[in-house]
Amino acid sequence: AMTQPILAVRNLETWYGPVNAIKGINLEIQAGHIVAVLGANGAGKTTLLNTIAGVIDPFKGSVEFEGRAIHGQDPDQVARGGVVLVPEGRQVFPFLSVRENLMMGSFARSSREGMAADLARIFEWFPRLLERQDQHAGLLSGGEQQMLAIGRALMARPAVLLLDEPSLGLSPLLTREIFSIVKRINTELRTAILVVEQNAAIALATANDGYIMELGRIVAAGTCAELMEKEDVKEFYLGGA
Ligand code: ATP
Repeated sequence: AMTQPILAVRNLETWYGPVNAIKGINLEIQAGHIVAVLGANGAGKTTLLNTIAGVIDPFKGSVEFEGRAIHGQDPDQVARGGVVLVPEGRQVFPFLSVRENLMMGSFARSSREGMAADLARIFEWFPRLLERQDQHAGLLSGGEQQMLAIGRALMARPAVLLLDEPSLGLSPLLTREIFSIVKRINTELRTAILVVEQNAAIALATANDGYIMELGRIVAAGTCAELMEKEDVKEFYLGGA
């Protein structure tokens, strides 16, 4: 029997005034899986994540978490329910310290229990955040801010983590570092992860399943191994290899 996906998007449509950014999308994440969404600029990837996270209301369709509809909830409610967004551009609080930013993430957890242990784990995974815990977050490098944004989301104890372009503006080395932590979050905490990424090679190497978006629609879907074998994926997303 098929297991119920932890997160499901069904026939989703999102508009900005007259602009139809998401044109009927179906997507599922199984518990414990990493799913990558690839696509060019303007394909609608950020809109998809923002609609799932409750930042934007869909015009049609549904978002279901553990079988229950969550669309129409505000972003705080969605986060408290267990679906937590790491937004594009990180959006850390620049004038709060690194530690204070991490504590801000804990608003959405259901219990205070284990908070110190979670903080210690984040500092173990991201030693640079430990070194800079008392500095203003605005003084961190782009890579460190991405680590902080992920750490802040983890303080919410998410069941599903939504990552919007974690590699944006990062060096190849830092991108690999971030994605190795993404894998670790998934294997050690069993967090399901939906990651939107321009870097198709690293996203397909990290995820279980993938979806390709073009102009608001899903144009291909499959396991990452299947997608990597498709000629158009090779040509347009993997640099013609
Ligand atoms: P990028 O990687 O550049 O963020 P994306 O795949 O995430 O691209 P979106 O940012 O979701 O794409 O944008 C999808 C479409 O919606 C684009 O045509 C974009 O111009 C449009 N769009 C995005 N935000 C708005 C807005 N606030 N108002 C009107 N149109 C918007």
